[in-house]
Amino acid sequence: MGMVSGCPLNNLCPEWNELVYKGRMEDAARRLLLTNCFPEFTSRVCPALCEKACTCGLYGDPVTVKENEYAIIESAYESGFMKPRIPKVRTGKKVAVIGSGPSGLAAALQLNRRGHSVTVYEREDRVGGLLMYGIPNMKLEKTVIDRRIALMEQEGVVFRTGVDVGKDISAEELQKQYDAVVLACGSSNPRNINASGRESKGIYYAVEFLKATTKSLINSNLSDGYYISAKYKNVIVIGGGDTGNDCVGTAIRHGCKSVIQLEMMPKLPDQRAENNPWPEWPRICKTDYGQEEAIAVFGHDPRIYQTTVKRFIPNEEGHLKAVETIKLQSVRDEKTGRMRMEEIPGSEQILEADLVLIAAGFLGAQSYVADAFGVNLNARTNVATETPDSYQTNVEKVFTAGDMHRGQSLVVWAIREGREAARAVDEYLMHYSNL
Ligand code: FAD
Repeated sequence: MGMVSGCPLNNLCPEWNELVYKGRMEDAARRLLLTNCFPEFTSRVCPALCEKACTCGLYGDPVTVKENEYAIIESAYESGFMKPRIPKVRTGKKVAVIGSGPSGLAAALQLNRRGHSVTVYEREDRVGGLLMYGIPNMKLEKTVIDRRIALMEQEGVVFRTGVDVGKDISAEELQKQYDAVVLACGSSNPRNINASGRESKGIYYAVEFLKATTKSLINSNLSDGYYISAKYKNVIVIGGGDTGNDCVGTAIRHGCKSVIQLEMMPKLPDQRAENNPWPEWPRICKTDYGQEEAIAVFGHDPRIYQTTVKRFIPNEEGHLKAVETIKLQSVRDEKTGRMRMEEIPGSEQILEADLVLIAAGFLGAQSYVADAFGVNLNARTNVATETPDSYQTNVEKVFTAGDMHRGQSLVVWAIREGREAARAVDEYLMHYSNL
């Protein structure tokens, strides 16, 4: 049985759809916000697990849940319904949230609404985590984040940017100052490509590239030159997933000469296979905006499947000039019975490249924060909790949420984790919770 999709936030779309149908937009917003702290983010970036599992999608088209959510929340902002909701009573308890991605923001929003005094610490110069410095601006305009942060500030949440916890301020200091701490630092260790020539100049991790572009775009409309330019370059993106797609779209906007996206796995089918029925998550080939743009600009899909990098080839100055690739085939492992990808000898190919972007996934939490607080990690180097649905770490008053806890995931899961961690913290502080 494959993964059954559905909304991790238990969004009750039939209820708010009914309210929209009756023209009761504010009630629809009220209902939507009961389960989703940030519909303005999910309605822009969520892959909409709900639509894939929608009963209407069994024989026809699913309900356009994501579009409806967008319309409800944007009209709520336009009509002035989205006012700061300042808690009437303060509990006198203080909570520190480390990391301002969607999980940290959701935890902060919930805990503040409950009356606790919340301070969010963020090492970057701007709040938002990967919403701000991962997901490109064309997919999520950064003003949408600023609009929400302004509301949260008016509600009483304090944001302290440019503070790297574990370096600029110690874990002990925070544990002393606060009644509880939520670690929501993400899963930002990128998976490397260990091939010879890796030290060549011109090879970057995807998030380095995307972050620098967004920062320069907001600060100077790309005129300060503080970004990794793909202009006139032959670009190779390693990794066929969503992050790779964002790199393709960004490289095209920079004005790259060519772009190729390498994917180790075989191309997925265009339609659901028989063993992948509704309401499972459909394992089909998705052509996302970056790839669509590459097709429009260069006339072909940028993806090359069942291929990986064998070595990076630098010129005399040490700058990348080409990449040697090799084809892969899937073979069944005799011992485990599982399929794995194996190189096909003689299938090497040389591709010209001045810029390589590694989008090969992430490998868990950065250890300095976990070490500073003394929290245990699990086998996948995420912060360990007793069960996947509990949020308290092995250290008294220290909780965790989001990618740092469940591993690299989605915004909708980060929001759910932030909400649930907030509930766990509230129970810890008050001995019951109404969150
Ligand atoms: P993060 O968003 O990673 O935030 C963690 C924050 O903690 C960061 O701001 C970091 O600077 C801060 N931090 C870390 N350590 C410290 C410290 N010691 N002190 C202070 N601050 C610290 N998901 C979707 O649903 N849709 C998408 O379209 C999508 N696109 C993506 C595109 C890219 C390029 C990437 C990389 C991911 C994408 N994802 C997407 C996944 C999604 O962004 C993440 O799952 C989500 O942001 C995780 O939220 P988080 O709050 O757990 O962590």
